[in-house]
Amino acid sequence: MKPKKIQLKSAYIVDLAKIEGKGDFFCPDCGIKISPDDETENTYSILEPKVRGSVLEEVLICCNRCGSHISLVGFSLEQEYSFGTGIFRNKTKKSLT
Ligand SMILES: [Zn+2]
Repeated sequence: MKPKKIQLKSAYIVDLAKIEGKGDFFCPDCGIKISPDDETENTYSILEPKVRGSVLEEVLICCNRCGSHISLVGFSLEQEYSFGTGIFRNKTKKSLT
């Protein structure tokens, strides 16, 4: 899986599906720990959530320490994610009738 070359300043892609645990990961550039459950937004800022229907596909965040842009992908359909404000939820458990 190779992403297209992005000409922006440091842009990284983090696949949450490959991360063990609750989705904590380290900034690929400066190594600071970034936790989706961090409600303070001290370590990162949310730039742009990309939601298709009710499914969270991607969240673009910015590391507050080094300024890198990090694109989060690979959200699980069964898990809830709250980023900072807690409004980004990936709840797609619907009853299929
Ligand atoms: Zn960083």
